[in-house]
Amino acid sequence: MDVTIEKKLQDLWKLQQIDSKLDNVHALMGELPMEVADLEDEIVGLQTRVDHIAVEVKSVEDEISAKKNAIKDFNKLIEKYDDQLNNIKNSREFEAITKEKEIAGLEILGAEKKIRELGKMLEAKAEIQTKTKEDLESRKKDLEFKKTELTEIEKENEEEMNKLRKESEKAMTALDKRLARAYSRIRKNMKNGVSVAPILRGSCGGCFSKIPPQRQSDIRAHFRIIDCEHCGRILVDQSVTGMEAQVEPKEPKTTRRKVRLTAKAE
Ligand SMILES: [Zn+2]
Repeated sequence: MDVTIEKKLQDLWKLQQIDSKLDNVHALMGELPMEVADLEDEIVGLQTRVDHIAVEVKSVEDEISAKKNAIKDFNKLIEKYDDQLNNIKNSREFEAITKEKEIAGLEILGAEKKIRELGKMLEAKAEIQTKTKEDLESRKKDLEFKKTELTEIEKENEEEMNKLRKESEKAMTALDKRLARAYSRIRKNMKNGVSVAPILRGSCGGCFSKIPPQRQSDIRAHFRIIDCEHCGRILVDQSVTGMEAQVEPKEPKTTRRKVRLTAKAE
Protein backbone atom coordinates (compact mmCIF):
# COMPACT_ATOMS: atom_id res chain seq x y z
CA MET A 1 0.00 0.00 0.00
CA ASP A 2 1.28 3.40 -0.99
CA VAL A 3 1.37 5.36 2.25
CA THR A 4 2.24 8.57 0.46
CA ILE A 5 -0.92 8.47 -1.63
CA GLU A 6 -2.98 7.67 1.42
CA LYS A 7 -1.46 10.62 3.28
CA LYS A 8 -2.11 12.88 0.29
CA LEU A 9 -5.75 11.78 0.18
CA GLN A 10 -6.10 12.39 3.90
CA ASP A 11 -4.59 15.85 3.56
CA LEU A 12 -6.88 16.63 0.64
CA TRP A 13 -9.92 15.47 2.57
CA LYS A 14 -8.90 17.50 5.60
CA LEU A 15 -8.53 20.63 3.46
CA GLN A 16 -11.87 20.00 1.82
CA GLN A 17 -13.62 19.76 5.16
CA ILE A 18 -12.15 23.05 6.35
CA ASP A 19 -13.08 24.78 3.10
CA SER A 20 -16.62 23.36 3.19
CA LYS A 21 -17.03 24.78 6.69
CA LEU A 22 -15.85 28.13 5.40
CA ASP A 23 -18.36 27.88 2.53
CA ASN A 24 -21.15 27.22 5.01
CA VAL A 25 -20.27 30.27 7.05
CA HIS A 26 -20.10 32.33 3.87
CA ALA A 27 -23.47 31.06 2.72
CA LEU A 28 -24.96 31.88 6.07
CA MET A 29 -23.65 35.42 5.93
CA GLY A 30 -24.27 35.73 2.21
CA GLU A 31 -28.03 35.49 2.45
CA LEU A 32 -28.68 37.71 5.42
CA PRO A 33 -27.45 40.95 3.85
CA MET A 34 -29.62 40.11 0.84
CA GLU A 35 -32.63 39.51 3.06
CA VAL A 36 -32.01 42.80 4.85
CA ALA A 37 -31.77 44.61 1.50
CA ASP A 38 -35.00 42.94 0.30
CA LEU A 39 -36.80 44.06 3.44
CA GLU A 40 -35.50 47.60 3.09
CA ASP A 41 -36.82 47.72 -0.49
CA GLU A 42 -40.16 46.38 0.63
CA ILE A 43 -40.41 48.95 3.40
CA VAL A 44 -39.72 51.79 0.95
CA GLY A 45 -42.48 50.41 -1.28
CA LEU A 46 -44.96 50.12 1.59
CA GLN A 47 -44.12 53.60 2.89
CA THR A 48 -44.76 55.03 -0.59
CA ARG A 49 -48.10 53.25 -0.63
CA VAL A 50 -49.03 54.54 2.82
CA ASP A 51 -48.17 58.11 1.74
CA HIS A 52 -50.14 57.70 -1.46
CA ILE A 53 -53.23 56.41 0.35
CA ALA A 54 -52.99 59.31 2.82
CA VAL A 55 -53.12 61.75 -0.09
CA GLU A 56 -56.15 59.95 -1.51
CA VAL A 57 -57.92 59.94 1.87
CA LYS A 58 -57.26 63.66 2.27
CA SER A 59 -58.66 64.35 -1.19
CA VAL A 60 -61.88 62.44 -0.45
CA GLU A 61 -62.20 64.23 2.91
CA ASP A 62 -61.76 67.59 1.17
CA GLU A 63 -64.43 66.65 -1.33
CA ILE A 64 -66.82 65.72 1.47
CA SER A 65 -66.28 68.99 3.32
CA ALA A 66 -66.75 70.91 0.05
CA LYS A 67 -70.10 69.18 -0.41
CA LYS A 68 -71.07 69.96 3.19
CA ASN A 69 -70.23 73.61 2.65
CA ALA A 70 -72.30 73.60 -0.53
CA ILE A 71 -75.28 72.24 1.44
CA LYS A 72 -74.87 75.06 3.99
CA ASP A 73 -74.84 77.60 1.18
CA PHE A 74 -77.95 76.12 -0.40
CA ASN A 75 -79.71 76.11 2.98
CA LYS A 76 -78.89 79.81 3.37
CA LEU A 77 -80.22 80.38 -0.10
CA ILE A 78 -83.45 78.56 0.82
CA GLU A 79 -83.80 80.75 3.93
CA LYS A 80 -83.39 83.79 1.72
CA TYR A 81 -86.04 82.50 -0.70
CA ASP A 82 -88.41 81.85 2.23
CA ASP A 83 -87.95 85.49 3.33
CA GLN A 84 -88.65 86.64 -0.18
CA LEU A 85 -91.75 84.45 -0.39
CA ASN A 86 -93.08 86.16 2.73
CA ASN A 87 -92.93 89.50 0.98
CA ILE A 88 -94.18 88.41 -2.37
CA LYS A 89 -95.58 91.02 -4.81
CA ASN A 90 -97.16 88.96 -7.53
CA SER A 91 -97.76 85.41 -8.66
CA ARG A 92 -95.09 85.54 -11.34
CA GLU A 93 -92.49 86.39 -8.69
CA PHE A 94 -93.91 83.66 -6.45
CA GLU A 95 -93.45 81.05 -9.18
CA ALA A 96 -89.93 82.16 -10.01
CA ILE A 97 -88.75 82.05 -6.39
CA THR A 98 -90.50 78.75 -5.70
CA LYS A 99 -88.69 77.30 -8.71
CA GLU A 100 -85.33 78.58 -7.42
CA LYS A 101 -86.09 77.09 -4.01
CA GLU A 102 -86.88 73.73 -5.58
CA ILE A 103 -83.61 73.75 -7.50
CA ALA A 104 -81.68 74.49 -4.29
CA GLY A 105 -83.49 71.59 -2.58
CA LEU A 106 -82.51 69.23 -5.39
CA GLU A 107 -78.92 70.42 -5.18
CA ILE A 108 -78.92 69.55 -1.48
CA LEU A 109 -80.29 66.06 -2.17
CA GLY A 110 -77.63 65.53 -4.83
CA ALA A 111 -74.88 66.70 -2.49
CA GLU A 112 -76.14 64.44 0.31
CA LYS A 113 -76.13 61.46 -2.04
CA LYS A 114 -72.57 62.28 -3.12
CA ILE A 115 -71.48 62.57 0.54
CA ARG A 116 -72.83 59.07 1.22
CA GLU A 117 -70.90 57.69 -1.76
CA LEU A 118 -67.74 59.47 -0.72
CA GLY A 119 -68.21 58.19 2.83
CA LYS A 120 -68.23 54.61 1.57
CA MET A 121 -65.14 55.30 -0.52
CA LEU A 122 -63.45 56.80 2.50
CA GLU A 123 -64.26 53.72 4.58
CA ALA A 124 -62.72 51.43 1.97
CA LYS A 125 -59.61 53.56 1.72
CA ALA A 126 -59.27 53.75 5.49
CA GLU A 127 -59.38 49.97 5.63
CA ILE A 128 -56.58 49.66 3.06
CA GLN A 129 -54.68 52.36 4.91
CA THR A 130 -54.88 50.46 8.20
CA LYS A 131 -53.82 47.19 6.57
CA THR A 132 -50.89 48.79 4.74
CA LYS A 133 -49.74 50.54 7.90
CA GLU A 134 -49.87 47.24 9.76
CA ASP A 135 -47.83 45.56 7.01
CA LEU A 136 -45.33 48.36 7.15
CA GLU A 137 -44.95 48.11 10.92
CA SER A 138 -44.57 44.35 10.74
CA ARG A 139 -41.86 44.61 8.05
CA LYS A 140 -40.06 47.22 10.09
CA LYS A 141 -40.00 44.81 13.01
CA ASP A 142 -38.72 42.03 10.73
CA LEU A 143 -36.00 44.33 9.49
CA GLU A 144 -34.93 45.28 12.97
CA PHE A 145 -34.75 41.61 13.88
CA LYS A 146 -32.76 40.66 10.77
CA LYS A 147 -30.35 43.53 11.21
CA THR A 148 -29.64 42.49 14.77
CA GLU A 149 -29.17 38.92 13.61
CA LEU A 150 -26.80 39.99 10.86
CA THR A 151 -24.68 42.06 13.21
CA GLU A 152 -24.52 39.19 15.66
CA ILE A 153 -23.61 36.64 13.00
CA GLU A 154 -20.95 38.92 11.58
CA LYS A 155 -19.44 39.37 14.98
CA GLU A 156 -19.82 35.73 15.89
CA ASN A 157 -18.30 34.43 12.67
CA GLU A 158 -15.45 36.83 12.30
CA GLU A 159 -13.33 34.82 14.69
CA GLU A 160 -14.49 31.49 13.27
CA MET A 161 -13.75 32.56 9.70
CA ASN A 162 -10.32 33.86 10.54
CA LYS A 163 -9.56 30.58 12.29
CA LEU A 164 -10.82 28.52 9.34
CA ARG A 165 -8.90 30.62 6.82
CA LYS A 166 -5.69 30.03 8.74
CA GLU A 167 -6.41 26.30 8.99
CA SER A 168 -7.15 26.16 5.27
CA GLU A 169 -3.88 27.88 4.41
CA LYS A 170 -2.00 25.52 6.66
CA ALA A 171 -3.70 22.45 5.20
CA MET A 172 -2.99 23.76 1.71
CA THR A 173 0.76 24.03 2.40
CA ALA A 174 0.75 20.39 3.50
CA LEU A 175 -0.06 19.46 -0.12
CA ASP A 176 2.51 19.47 -2.86
CA LYS A 177 2.15 22.37 -5.26
CA ARG A 178 0.78 20.34 -8.15
CA LEU A 179 -1.91 18.78 -6.00
CA ALA A 180 -2.76 22.09 -4.33
CA ARG A 181 -3.23 23.67 -7.76
CA ALA A 182 -5.45 20.79 -8.90
CA TYR A 183 -7.50 21.05 -5.73
CA SER A 184 -7.99 24.80 -6.12
CA ARG A 185 -8.82 24.51 -9.81
CA ILE A 186 -11.51 21.87 -9.22
CA ARG A 187 -12.92 23.74 -6.23
CA LYS A 188 -13.19 26.95 -8.24
CA ASN A 189 -15.08 25.18 -11.01
CA MET A 190 -17.60 23.50 -8.72
CA LYS A 191 -20.70 25.40 -7.73
CA ASN A 192 -20.79 23.78 -4.30
CA GLY A 193 -17.04 24.24 -3.80
CA VAL A 194 -16.51 20.50 -3.35
CA SER A 195 -13.22 19.43 -4.87
CA VAL A 196 -12.72 16.20 -2.92
CA ALA A 197 -15.78 13.97 -2.75
CA PRO A 198 -16.44 10.81 -0.76
CA ILE A 199 -17.79 7.62 -2.29
CA LEU A 200 -21.34 7.30 -1.05
CA ARG A 201 -23.34 4.19 -1.90
CA GLY A 202 -21.12 3.56 -4.88
CA SER A 203 -21.68 7.08 -6.20
CA CYS A 204 -19.59 10.22 -6.37
CA GLY A 205 -20.52 12.40 -3.38
CA GLY A 206 -20.07 15.46 -5.58
CA CYS A 207 -22.14 14.78 -8.70
CA PHE A 208 -23.94 11.59 -7.56
CA SER A 209 -22.95 9.60 -10.64
CA LYS A 210 -22.38 5.87 -10.20
CA ILE A 211 -18.74 4.84 -9.92
CA PRO A 212 -17.93 1.53 -11.68
CA PRO A 213 -16.98 -1.20 -9.18
CA GLN A 214 -13.44 -1.57 -10.59
CA ARG A 215 -12.85 2.18 -10.18
CA GLN A 216 -14.19 1.98 -6.64
CA SER A 217 -11.68 -0.70 -5.72
CA ASP A 218 -8.92 1.32 -7.40
CA ILE A 219 -9.90 4.27 -5.22
CA ARG A 220 -9.84 2.08 -2.13
CA ALA A 221 -6.43 0.71 -3.08
CA HIS A 222 -4.80 4.15 -2.75
CA PHE A 223 -2.34 3.44 -5.60
CA ARG A 224 -2.97 6.76 -7.21
CA ILE A 225 -5.27 9.72 -6.95
CA ILE A 226 -8.44 9.02 -8.89
CA ASP A 227 -11.03 11.50 -10.00
CA CYS A 228 -14.71 11.13 -10.88
CA GLU A 229 -15.16 10.34 -14.54
CA HIS A 230 -18.18 12.62 -14.70
CA CYS A 231 -17.30 15.71 -12.71
CA GLY A 232 -13.54 15.49 -12.23
CA ARG A 233 -13.67 15.71 -8.43
CA ILE A 234 -11.00 13.80 -6.53
CA LEU A 235 -12.61 10.73 -4.96
CA VAL A 236 -11.84 9.40 -1.50
CA ASP A 237 -13.08 6.22 0.15
CA GLN A 238 -14.41 5.50 3.60
CA SER A 239 -11.02 4.69 5.11
CA VAL A 240 -10.00 8.28 4.37
CA THR A 241 -13.25 10.04 5.27
CA GLY A 242 -14.34 7.86 8.15
CA MET A 243 -17.84 8.41 6.80
CA GLU A 244 -20.45 5.70 6.65
CA ALA A 245 -20.19 4.42 3.06
CA GLN A 246 -23.85 3.51 2.93
CA VAL A 247 -25.01 7.03 3.68
CA GLU A 248 -27.40 8.27 1.07
CA PRO A 249 -25.68 10.96 -1.00
CA LYS A 250 -27.24 14.33 -0.34
CA GLU A 251 -26.91 17.74 -1.91
CA PRO A 252 -24.32 19.52 0.19
CA LYS A 253 -25.77 22.11 2.50
CA THR A 254 -24.67 25.42 1.12
CA THR A 255 -27.35 27.63 2.59
CA ARG A 256 -28.92 27.50 6.00
CA ARG A 257 -31.91 29.69 5.57
CA LYS A 258 -34.38 29.55 2.75
CA VAL A 259 -37.32 31.11 4.52
CA ARG A 260 -38.02 34.53 3.13
CA LEU A 261 -40.22 37.05 4.79
CA THR A 262 -41.25 38.51 1.49
CA ALA A 263 -43.37 36.76 -1.06
CA LYS A 264 -40.86 37.60 -3.81
CA ALA A 265 -39.92 34.87 -6.23
CA GLU A 266 -36.48 33.44 -5.67
ZN1 LIG B 1 -18.55 13.17 -9.71
